[in-house]
Amino acid sequence: MAEKRDYYEVLGVSKNATADELKKAYRKLALKYHPDRNPGDKEAEEKFKEAAEAYDVLSNPEKKARYDQFGHAGMSGAGGFGGAGMSMDDIFSQFGDIFGGMFGGGGFGGFSGGFGGGFGSGGRRVRKGSNLRITVKLTLEEIANGVEKKIKVRKSVPCETCHGSGAADKGGHKTCETCHGSGRVAQVTQTILGRMQQVVTCPTCHGEGEIITTPCPACHGEGTTKAEEVITIRIPAGVEDGMQLSMQGKGNAAPRGGVPGDLLILIEELPHELFQRDHTNLHYTHYVNFVDAAMGATVEVPTLNGKARLKLEAGTPSGKLLRLRGKGLPDIQNRMPKGDLIVSIQVWVPKILNKEEKDMLQKLKDMPDMQPSPDRREPGFFERMKEYFS
Ligand SMILES: [Zn+2]
Ligand SMILES: [Zn+2]
Repeated sequence: MAEKRDYYEVLGVSKNATADELKKAYRKLALKYHPDRNPGDKEAEEKFKEAAEAYDVLSNPEKKARYDQFGHAGMSGAGGFGGAGMSMDDIFSQFGDIFGGMFGGGGFGGFSGGFGGGFGSGGRRVRKGSNLRITVKLTLEEIANGVEKKIKVRKSVPCETCHGSGAADKGGHKTCETCHGSGRVAQVTQTILGRMQQVVTCPTCHGEGEIITTPCPACHGEGTTKAEEVITIRIPAGVEDGMQLSMQGKGNAAPRGGVPGDLLILIEELPHELFQRDHTNLHYTHYVNFVDAAMGATVEVPTLNGKARLKLEAGTPSGKLLRLRGKGLPDIQNRMPKGDLIVSIQVWVPKILNKEEKDMLQKLKDMPDMQPSPDRREPGFFERMKEYFS
C-alpha cells in the first residue's frame, strides 16, 4: 500500500482549523471528486475516499487527538480505521448530509432517495434496512458483572415466500431495460458550469437493476415481512446510563435483498435501593448508634455481591467516609481498576425517646467527656472529600 498522506495535507487545512473550516474543505473536495461527476474515474474515487477518511478523523475530537499524537499508526484497531479505509457505503451513510441540497435530488438531479444507501461495488444501489432501537433497563448488580439479555423484538425480516426478492417466483422479475441492470444511467444536464454528464440512479428501477413483474403475494413485492425475533444481547460490565451499544446487521431487513440495519441498544440504569453510583464508585450511607460511634465497633455493610465488615474506631464522627477498595464497579474500557464502595457513616439521632432513655441521657449530658471539644486541627468534611477524590 502506498504511503498515506497526512490528513491535514489531504484537506489542505492547518492543525488549528475550526470545525467549520474542516467541513468546508471536505465539502469542496467531496464535490470535486464526487463519483457522480467523475463516472468510472478510479483516481477520483480514491481521492474522494481519502478526503472522507481525513474528514472522519479530523472532525472527531477523540480520533483527532489520537491522530495528532500517534499519526496514522494510532488509527488502526478499536474505534479507529482499519487499514482498508472507508467504503463508499460508509461515506454516504456517514457524511451524506454534507452534500446537502447539492446532490440530494434537487438542483443536480442526483440520487432520488438521498444518501441512505450508497452504491456497492457492482454499481447497483445497495439498500440498507432501518436501524432498530431498543432500551434495556439494568440493575446495578447486572452492570457490575455484565449480563446476557434475551430481548424479543418485532422487526422486518426477509419474506420467507420469496426469500427477500419481492418477486413471485423465478419468472417474477426481469432485468431493467432502461439501465440494462446496472442501476444507473448517464444524464446530461445544463448547469451554470456548462454541460455536465452525470451518472444518476436509474429512474425506472430506482437503482435496483431489476423490475418486479409479478410481486410476491406474501409481501406484496416488498421482500420483507414483520416478525418477532428473540435476540441475545451480551452487555459488558460497567456500562452507564445513556450509553448506546450497537449490533451490526441485527436491525430491520432491507427491502428486496439489501443489507440489514443495526440494532441500537440504549442503556437505562435502574435506581438502586441502597447505592448511588458515581462512574465506577458506589456511595452508601450507613447509620450507627451513638454508642458504637463513641466506643468503636465492627459493623456489617451491604455490597453489590454480598456483605463486608467495617471497623469503626472509637470516636468515629458522623460523616466519616470509609472506603472499601474494589467493591465498586468495573470501568467499561478496562482502563482503570475497579471502583470503590465509599461508606459514609452517619450517627443516628433518635426522634422518639421513652422516660427511661430520657433519664439516662439527662445523666450522660452533664458528664465531663460529653462536652463538645472539637479538635480544630482535624480536617473538616470538605478536606476529607478532597482527600478521597484527589
Ligand atoms: Zn415475499
Ligand atoms: Zn434500471
